[in-house]
Amino acid sequence: MKDILSMLPEEISEDFKSKNLPSFRAKQVSEWLAKGASSFDEMLNLPKELRSALQEEYSLYRPEILRKQVSRLDGTVKYLWGLQDGNAVETVVMHNNYGNTVCISTQVGCRQGCAFCASTIGGLVRCLEPSEMLSEVFASQADCGERISNIVLMGIGEPLDNFDNVMKFLQLVNHPQVMNIGMRHISLSTCGLIERFDELAEKDLQITLSVSLHAPDDETRSKLMPANRGRGVDALMDACKRYYEKTGRRISFEYSMINGVNDTEAHARLLAKRAKDVGAHVNLIALNHVEERAFEPSTQSHIKAFMKILESEGVNVTLRRKLGGDVEASCGQLRRKFEKNREGS
Ligand code: SAH
Repeated sequence: MKDILSMLPEEISEDFKSKNLPSFRAKQVSEWLAKGASSFDEMLNLPKELRSALQEEYSLYRPEILRKQVSRLDGTVKYLWGLQDGNAVETVVMHNNYGNTVCISTQVGCRQGCAFCASTIGGLVRCLEPSEMLSEVFASQADCGERISNIVLMGIGEPLDNFDNVMKFLQLVNHPQVMNIGMRHISLSTCGLIERFDELAEKDLQITLSVSLHAPDDETRSKLMPANRGRGVDALMDACKRYYEKTGRRISFEYSMINGVNDTEAHARLLAKRAKDVGAHVNLIALNHVEERAFEPSTQSHIKAFMKILESEGVNVTLRRKLGGDVEASCGQLRRKFEKNREGS
């Protein structure tokens, strides 16, 4: 069966055409899907026989809310969605003064093995389908009752390890008849799978590419992020430069500050050099403590001092607010709990 929520309106039209169905039927179906229909039965302006025929041909599934937590501190909402096959993924909705941002997962689990991250503990289970990523945005918007204007691909999983599905998701979410969210309002975050950077640049998407750097030198970075081994920071910087030259889109470096690991003055100086070289913006954030991980966040005063060094070197730097601290709004923590309970039950 074809997964109809992973299809663009044009593809649905093509498909219907090949079945000799009039084009207005395809349009009606796309409209129902964009309105959130979760079955063909709801599409009341279609003849009953057509609805049954479509049901035989296409699958249509919307994830269910397994858990929803609302932060008392800042209203950040965290959802745990149940997928059709029993897996679960997380989505976070953050309210900012410029609109609502949704942080979506791209895979069930992750195989990148970053030492500080909760998402990777059980490895990769599977990639998400375009329809599943779209549903994270769609269902979050429907549940919170406010328009989602920004998307960050910073939840569970490595987007570039699910390249084709993520590209399709971007097309869908950007499509005027689907969600109509502008590419400039979307950030894709990667641990640095540089073999995919040129391919991504070729798509010329106007999205923001965020690189999870977390350390400016190979020794520290390879310890924290296995994805650095065999690739290296120099090669990552070259790939970033090429990306910037091709797309004209400034890259962001994500830098989670870990006490005594990546927060020395030497790290700050080298980071400044790297960022200036690539013309990158640096986003600093205190590490979120993860129960299973030994790392601790740097102290606030340490972070401020680190930031001062970057600024004095002329780097464009932002200290990110920590949101949803009371709802475990950091990658993979909620799903991890869900899996643990399931194992225990
Ligand atoms: N795989 C992608 C996107 C998912 S992770 C990537 O690596 O970029 C989203 C961001 O959260 C990344 O910058 C990641 O390094 C960071 N992150 C993961 N665990 C964290 C933690 N415990 N504290 C702070 N940041 C964390």
